[in-house]
Amino acid sequence: MLNPLRSIVQEVSAARGLDQALEIIVARVKEALGVDVCSVYLTDQQSGQLVLMATDGLHPESVGTVRLDITEGLVGLVAERAEPVNLDDAPTHPRYRYFQETGEERYHAFLGVPIIHHRQVLGVLVVQHHAESRFNEENVTFLITIGAQLAGAIAHAEASGGIDGLIQRPMDGRAMLGQPGAPGVTVGTAVVMATHEDLDGVPDRPAQDPAAEQDRFRKAVVAVRNDVTEMIGRIGSVLTAGDKALFDAYLLMLESDTLVGVTLARIAAGNWAPGALRETIQEHVRTFEMMEDPYLRERAQDVRDLGRRILLRLREEAPDIREYPKKTVLVGEEITASMLTEVPPKRLIGVVSVRGSRTSHTAILARALGLPAVMGCTDLPVARIDGREIIVDGHSGRVYVSPSAQVRKEYQRLQREEAELSAGLLELRNLVSVTPDGLRVPLYANTGLLSDTTPSLKSGAEGVGLYRTEFPFMIRDRFPGEEDQYSVYRQVLESFHPRPVTMRTLDVGGDKGLPYFPISEDNPFLGWRGIRICLDHPEIFLAQLRAMLRASVGLDNLKLLLPMVSAVAEVDEALALVRRAKQELLEEGHAVHMPEVGVMVEVPSAVYQVGALARRVDFFSVGTNDLTQYLLAVDRNNSRVAELYEPLHPAVIRAIKQVVEGAHRHHKPVSVCGEMAGDPAGALVLIGLGVDSLSMSASSLLRVKWMIRTVMQSEVKNLMRRVLRFDDPREVRALLNQFLENAGLGGLIRAGKPAAPAAAA
Ligand code: PEP
Ligand code: MG
Repeated sequence: MLNPLRSIVQEVSAARGLDQALEIIVARVKEALGVDVCSVYLTDQQSGQLVLMATDGLHPESVGTVRLDITEGLVGLVAERAEPVNLDDAPTHPRYRYFQETGEERYHAFLGVPIIHHRQVLGVLVVQHHAESRFNEENVTFLITIGAQLAGAIAHAEASGGIDGLIQRPMDGRAMLGQPGAPGVTVGTAVVMATHEDLDGVPDRPAQDPAAEQDRFRKAVVAVRNDVTEMIGRIGSVLTAGDKALFDAYLLMLESDTLVGVTLARIAAGNWAPGALRETIQEHVRTFEMMEDPYLRERAQDVRDLGRRILLRLREEAPDIREYPKKTVLVGEEITASMLTEVPPKRLIGVVSVRGSRTSHTAILARALGLPAVMGCTDLPVARIDGREIIVDGHSGRVYVSPSAQVRKEYQRLQREEAELSAGLLELRNLVSVTPDGLRVPLYANTGLLSDTTPSLKSGAEGVGLYRTEFPFMIRDRFPGEEDQYSVYRQVLESFHPRPVTMRTLDVGGDKGLPYFPISEDNPFLGWRGIRICLDHPEIFLAQLRAMLRASVGLDNLKLLLPMVSAVAEVDEALALVRRAKQELLEEGHAVHMPEVGVMVEVPSAVYQVGALARRVDFFSVGTNDLTQYLLAVDRNNSRVAELYEPLHPAVIRAIKQVVEGAHRHHKPVSVCGEMAGDPAGALVLIGLGVDSLSMSASSLLRVKWMIRTVMQSEVKNLMRRVLRFDDPREVRALLNQFLENAGLGGLIRAGKPAAPAAAA
């Protein structure tokens, strides 16, 4: 049974659109199980009805016409219960409903399983048999496995054509759901971007000049052929027979019509060379992956490799230097922080990434730059949307491709409203962040890009609460040297002087890679990250510390922050290196001072050792992004579990409470610099817990200040007593929203939420 399963799933993933996918499913499942009928019913999202979308065995003309409510028929029963129904004689079941047009009266045995994606029943997969006998367990598990594996492919196919398309409603303009990445809404042109070797991320694009594109492709093929031949010449004598055969196979493929001829034909049909190459390679990969023989199956990787080589050559031939549209929305399988820096800042207005989530560093950077972003938009058909109009709703996580006029109008209205709200908030810029009954809550900015100091300064921040030093490291092609770092840090410290700037030492690893320092691990978030890397590489750490200390000479507004601390020994070792850097610099004649040093609390062990840490350092900064991920065991980048990622979880709230109490016992202040601080509801909780200051992206600062200047400290205290009694994060959020609403701050919760017509579109 295993092989048919695998090949069906592969064939379906390769289908061009939902209709083809469904045809494959019904034919192949029928064949694999040796049944008389296989059919797929899908849920029509508009009517909520189940519609027969494909069948092998029932009358073909019944497709699209048979519809039933979830309360009707056996198919409805499967969807209603969200579990299989297995009957030996279906017509005798009380829920049986007969549809004359299907001709199904001849069938007795019935087995239906739900197709479920993200807890939602997308449809029902049914097999039927003449004979009056129940399906056996192997059949049931086969169908359940097929249903589970196909759910994702069906959801994806739906997004790119879908049941809507099949029942004659245009797909364009439908909302595709991801995670809210950075607030704001925007309307622009999709520009699909892929990393240089990411073949699957290459978009389709019309070939401007097919003959020239063909020429470019031929040249790339010749170049790769020369590379391979040269390689064989160079290292042929040390190659094993197997390796040699592999390279010979590469050469054969590079001359074959199936690779070259087919791609040229695709270019002639209108696709540009990289898009045509992607199609051809994907087709070959699928063929190999479906082979029974494990050796041949592995050859799929070789074809991929060859495809990547040609792609790299194509890109060298004609680098993808493009004129970015005036309103560029960057879209891709995985948008990275460095991709954001490739687009001229004035032209970049939004970001959509298939992978990642709200607390991915790309989202954090987008927020810092004030760009609306949607992350984890897994259903987005990236290859097909380059150059199309796109709406990004960073509040709700919705994306619309080629929106209807009505939706576009609604979002343009929202953009105007947001601009008005921001203009209104600007009046708060020079006012103190204090509650009406006198509680001072200093607000600091999170920053990390040199160009980002301007928005931070403009926001009225009282300093920088978190300067993420890894961004300057990410956008270079090697570790920056001490001088290079010195000039970056000096500029930041100068521009904020006399206000304090808290610079965090290098925090790479996890989801933040450096192109020139690859780290490959099974569990990167539990691996070599943050302070661990710095302590293992004192040469890199010392260069950074020296650059920071020197940059503060004469300004003395630097504070140092150590990330990812999970043990006191790490702090002791890091402090020893800071002292050493200071000593060296003094000896070299620089008038450096020992800065205040703080620890980030973002690992549960730091919560429980806050007392021991407080004896060693001057302040704490809670990194709720990581603390939430580590306390709840929810990967901050994984869109599949994004619903479980909740900084307002009672466990997170209690952990922060413990940190504040422990630190205050030692008279050490606590700030919060995770994204929770920039969420008005989160900030409310943090103030209630007695956090001394908050640090957030510049774009959130005035909203939070508005909240602080409106709520009474005494009311927040009462609110916290209630919050701390809740067990469920949903109750916490609901209460906080209600509180904000009652305080007249509903605008902070609703900001950017579209009115009903657009949401329903
Ligand atoms: C955090 O973890 O909350 C934090 C501020 O650090 P980063 O998001 O850079 O990991
Ligand atoms: Mg962190």
